[in-house]
Amino acid sequence: MLKNLPEAVTAFTLSGVGLHSGLVTTVKIMPAQPGAGRYFVRVDQPQQPIIPANLDSVSQTTLSTELAQETTSGSVVKVRTVEHLLAALSASGIQDARIEIDGAEVPLLDGSAKLWADAIAENICHNQTIEHHSPPPLVIQQPVVVQEQDAFVAAMPASETRFTYGIDFPYAVIGNQWHSWTLNREDFATEIAPARTFGFAEEIEQLQKAGLIKGGSLDNALVCSHQGWINPPLRFTNEPARHKLLDLVGDLSLLGTFPQAHFLAYKASHKLHIQLAKKISLLISQ
Ligand SMILES: [Zn+2]
Repeated sequence: MLKNLPEAVTAFTLSGVGLHSGLVTTVKIMPAQPGAGRYFVRVDQPQQPIIPANLDSVSQTTLSTELAQETTSGSVVKVRTVEHLLAALSASGIQDARIEIDGAEVPLLDGSAKLWADAIAENICHNQTIEHHSPPPLVIQQPVVVQEQDAFVAAMPASETRFTYGIDFPYAVIGNQWHSWTLNREDFATEIAPARTFGFAEEIEQLQKAGLIKGGSLDNALVCSHQGWINPPLRFTNEPARHKLLDLVGDLSLLGTFPQAHFLAYKASHKLHIQLAKKISLLISQ
């Protein structure tokens, strides 16, 4: 199955504002050695420390996923809001990538993974010689579940890698909605990547007071109120559910390779996504 072999990228650069920091950063995606995995390099820091995009690096999951690494001098370097970029790389089959960044937060761009997925598609080089480097995927044999009240994320035995996401918000224009998608490189860019981050008008002031979403705007997030969407049109009728699915793909990419399973999430969060990934990684290490 040639199409499932790991792919590589040629270098490309994207810049933009970080959702929480409000600061502009530039990201340069570069090829990496087979087996090196996906990793960030804080090129603005002395010694250019590396932050591997794996579960051991996860330092925070409030509203976005943050990775951190202690440097040789004892300081801690971070990179925040990694999920959309990592979803685009992993769903495009890029197993190994050096991600240079000159700040602590990945640009939000238009709030989705579309620009990442488009740039990856333009710069991908189909590598047909590294089949032996592909680790066999873990096949989930028994249900693995994490839950918090009525929210949960589960990995169920399945014949393919599939993601299903349900959300339920007390806003008429969102309500209860679902999306389901089988992992494949062909339609990620059109079906999942364009789904944008969403937020609630009533919560914006509160989040800004907490020093968050300094880079949020009507250009990079869908904003919902009890009267309806503040900045329509939507790209899909269930765009919020698709965006949550995108976040789940990005967070589970920290496992390195997606296990063969049906990942089913309901009303979940980055915190629960990462808890499930950690539970699965314990299975892998056994
Ligand atoms: Zn997101």
